[in-house]
Amino acid sequence: MYTPTHTEFINIVPIFPNGRDYKDIIEMSGSEILESVVPRSIIIGKSILGKIPDLIQSLGLKSRVMILMGPITRNVVGEEIYDVVTDQGMDCETIIVENSSLETTETYVDIVEQYKPNVLISVGGGKNIDTGKYCILRSSRRMELISVPTSTPHDGLASPFIFLNNPTEKLIGEIRPPIAVIADIEKILTHPNLIRYLAAGVGDTIGKITAIWDWKYAWRIKSEKYSRFVGGVLENADTLFQSQVSEATIDPEHAVHVVLKALLIAGVLMGTSNDIRVGYGSEHMFSAALAAEIDADILHGERIALGTLMMARLQGQDHKQIRKILNKANCPTRIDELSEKIPSEAVIRALQTTHKMNPMYTVLGRTGLTEAAAWNLGIGSGVINPL
Ligand SMILES: [Zn+2]
Repeated sequence: MYTPTHTEFINIVPIFPNGRDYKDIIEMSGSEILESVVPRSIIIGKSILGKIPDLIQSLGLKSRVMILMGPITRNVVGEEIYDVVTDQGMDCETIIVENSSLETTETYVDIVEQYKPNVLISVGGGKNIDTGKYCILRSSRRMELISVPTSTPHDGLASPFIFLNNPTEKLIGEIRPPIAVIADIEKILTHPNLIRYLAAGVGDTIGKITAIWDWKYAWRIKSEKYSRFVGGVLENADTLFQSQVSEATIDPEHAVHVVLKALLIAGVLMGTSNDIRVGYGSEHMFSAALAAEIDADILHGERIALGTLMMARLQGQDHKQIRKILNKANCPTRIDELSEKIPSEAVIRALQTTHKMNPMYTVLGRTGLTEAAAWNLGIGSGVINPL
């Protein structure tokens, strides 16, 4: 098994199945076999955590369980899952995920390897789910992941792709997507930062507008593989989602349903097409570049919203319409609306390095933006104020 050192991971080459790397994937011809792997069960409802033991059995999984949860999700959901699982006589251990730095996550890998579970249950937002995916990626054992979201921060809930903060947001690689997703609406509604996380989920979903544009652009310019079917489904889903955003902001429960389904659809489509381009374009590359510039309390979806506004303007798309949708969802569209202030110069530096965050071809081309172009874009899109 490939066992990279920490240093290798900092200059990371994403790991994909069968020894492929990203270049192989984008150069894969249409005649090759494309393996689609998607979750086998997605359950959305109220008071459904008690279904987990039955789900484990119905999926034919052995009942040695490891729960990964955060310090907060432990009280809200994690302990309840521990109780329902052990009440059914299943073996269960827990890991409290403190952070998702590569170094810390490696220690969780060691714990998982020692306990030898058959099922990992990741409880929480994106961090714990990515940590669970990473443990499976690094393990020599066959394990399945059950994703139990307690918020709606991004589309990793059901996707095969792994991102960790190492120290910045980087694509680590790909595994089989979670075998099941169980989203308890009641639990999500009790999240202390419900509205902010909902808005961030809208931000990540709206990013599909620029990601699909980049995907099509690379298809036209570089003859990259593009799925008209998946792109079409996603565009329609995104349009439907946009029409429901204003309604959703009035009713939090409806909002959770809308945002959750949008994120799950995007994650499943990533598994269907086996292509990260479904939900990852220049807006996500900007998000990674900004995360590398500043260590601030900004959610992934909030960075994506800013990136989408700027990349949409660069692509000649209607960025003002995107701003309206984000405003309806209370998602920040300017850096001075973020919960933590960041300097304009950090955005400008991030814009100038965005094209280096991933080898994929986007609207930024191979050379990216000059400093003057970055200022024009930041100010023109309304994300930063003129000096
Ligand atoms: Zn995302």
